Amino acid sequence: MTTPLTPEVLVPRLGEYLVQSGTITEQTLQKALAYQKEQETSGRKVYLGEALIELGAIDRRQLDHAITKQIIELRNALEDANRFLERRVQERTAELQEAMQKLSELSQLKTNFLANISHELRTPLTHIKGYLELLVTGALGDLNEEQRNALLVSQRSANQLESLIDSLILFSQAARGEMTLHLKSVNLVKVASDVISYSRVKAANRSITLEYEIPSDLPLVQADEEKISWVILQLLDNAIKFTPSGGKVVLSIQPESDNLIMVSVRDTGIGIPADKLDAIFEPFYQVNGSATRRYGGTGLGLALVREIINAHGSILDVISEEGKGSAFRFPLLASQGVI
Ligand code: ADP
Repeated sequence: MTTPLTPEVLVPRLGEYLVQSGTITEQTLQKALAYQKEQETSGRKVYLGEALIELGAIDRRQLDHAITKQIIELRNALEDANRFLERRVQERTAELQEAMQKLSELSQLKTNFLANISHELRTPLTHIKGYLELLVTGALGDLNEEQRNALLVSQRSANQLESLIDSLILFSQAARGEMTLHLKSVNLVKVASDVISYSRVKAANRSITLEYEIPSDLPLVQADEEKISWVILQLLDNAIKFTPSGGKVVLSIQPESDNLIMVSVRDTGIGIPADKLDAIFEPFYQVNGSATRRYGGTGLGLALVREIINAHGSILDVISEEGKGSAFRFPLLASQGVI
């Protein structure tokens, strides 16, 4: 059974208050408390105010007056507490807003820095690449075998550096919401054949079988050719990188329905732990830092791949099993024509 909400229940320190305000003495209070107990043992519940009235220590009017005063004090105290809390909430909100503002400024600063530094790196690299090309082709004089080999190694490294810088530029554009697509009808059969001829060497170097499943009468798709080539190349690079020798990587491009073409890259590689399947799309994330150092890379690839696919209005998804392999796939919208 619940106790009815009387003013005396709401005002539990009535006795103390009556003593402090001089309405009753401490002695009278003790007497009333003893009386209350006595009544309770004989099965009668008496509130303190009633006990005091029954003992003739105060009258009903004095009791009502005391209770009302206490309720007002209580309400004032509650209002003060509420005002204090509201002020704290406002202060906290302002602090949080300031922190968010700082964070967003810092993030903007980082992206601007990334964009600027990438462009600055590109200019000297263009000169390095240009002179390497002149040297390798013998345009600046004859070379012996050793010199030529050294220059070929330098050229490969310069190309790697260039693709890293390109990724950084693309990434900073995406982070600033500045990625622009040049959409047109794209022949994926041709894109795939170019990308595969590029990846074939890497796969062969690691004794990995590279296969493709692409019908020759594939419809054209609406896409940014350069960016989609980069995406497929990136997925193939990862598949080759994370597959041990003797494994297999397959690029499949198939009509999925009347107007969708599904692009997928699957491998028989090391796979990705289920609890990391979301994180791999975060910029700079690598499943296992030390292992990935062995594999190389920046952790930017998949973040960018996803940005590009999303910019096409599509979704990139991944299925993977540790130790068995992974499959990354995304659909593209078919254009009207057929090759
Ligand atoms: P990077 O390859 O430069 O490290 P990515 O963003 O392309 O960066 O990939 C992020 C991480 O996701 C990789 O470091 C790797 O741990 C994991 N990953 C990506 N593709 C595969 C794959 N095909 N098989 C296994 N792990 C992969």
